[in-house]
Amino acid sequence: MLDLAIIGGGPAGLTAGLYATRGGLKNVTMFEMGMPGGQITGSSEIENYPGQGNVMSGMELMQNWPEQAMKFGLNHEMNQVTNVTKDGDVFTVETADGNKQEAKAVLLATGSVPRRAGFKGEDEFFGRGISTCATCDGFFYKGKEVAVVGGGDSALEEAVYLSKICSKVYLVHRRDTYRAAPSTIEHMKAAQNIEEVTSVDVEEVYGDAMGVTGLKVKSKENGEIRDLPTPGVFVFVGRDVLNDPLKQEDGSFLCDTNEQGEIIVDLKMKTNVPGLYAAGDVRIDAAKQVVCAAGDGATAAVDIIEYVG
Ligand code: NAP
Repeated sequence: MLDLAIIGGGPAGLTAGLYATRGGLKNVTMFEMGMPGGQITGSSEIENYPGQGNVMSGMELMQNWPEQAMKFGLNHEMNQVTNVTKDGDVFTVETADGNKQEAKAVLLATGSVPRRAGFKGEDEFFGRGISTCATCDGFFYKGKEVAVVGGGDSALEEAVYLSKICSKVYLVHRRDTYRAAPSTIEHMKAAQNIEEVTSVDVEEVYGDAMGVTGLKVKSKENGEIRDLPTPGVFVFVGRDVLNDPLKQEDGSFLCDTNEQGEIIVDLKMKTNVPGLYAAGDVRIDAAKQVVCAAGDGATAAVDIIEYVG
């Protein structure tokens, strides 16, 4: 029987693992199907993690976290959790290989995945010219023109990153104001080779057997269509939470969620089900920052230690 099953190995899961094991819990397993580190490892530039003054990549920021947590006894199981159920006081955590493990407490720290924007050609060309990771795929477009879709922090930060690799970046946004932080907007505006293409909808991304060859955008003001002949389109239009493990056979969730499927927790990261916690981007009102996810993980672990007793 596990004291604690942590689902997800990003900043929230790793910090919970560190605090839980260092705080005395035995048999703490973190289920993470990929490399621990989380979605932030796909970010190219971090400059707002406290105490880390230099701009660094997400990969650099996260590189020491797993080792630190494992030093205190956190186990990492490279497996996907498909389902969590509760019977009496005991949780059962089922993984993709059909194995079942029992746990006294469960922390969901699964985060979120990039949302699709829903334009024509998006599914067809996903992975063949359409990407949601500039750090991963930006290099393929060295010296070429690309388009970035979105107007939040992710879109603007990644547009700035791509502007250093690519000859030109079209920043395609459906409004003429941005959601991103003022300093990020400033960085974007300072880049000489970013052209803002605002108040437009993406009509279509088109291409051939080799992949994307361009996109068409339609002005919301006068309906004019503009053709942007770029071989790369990066989409950053928000994220959807990963709550699948909590789905029950009848389609309900093991605990309360809001309309977006985000897990409802209190200030201790407790759900309405005793012993079940959620931390990081998967929970309601998440600030979606590494430092906040880490804080959530620590907060949850402190309470879980008390709960498990
Ligand atoms: P976001 O803030 O939700 O922004 C999504 C952007 O995509 C918005 O500009 C939105 O337009 C646009 N959009 C949404 N659906 C669309 C569609 N179907 N077609 C075209 N455009 C669409 O998402 P995010 O940038 O991924 O950021 C998520 C969270 O992480 C935010 O809280 C952000 O502050 C945080 N974050 C922080 C940092 C940092 O602090 N360094 C870095 C990255 C992300 P509208 O504006 O018109 O709605």
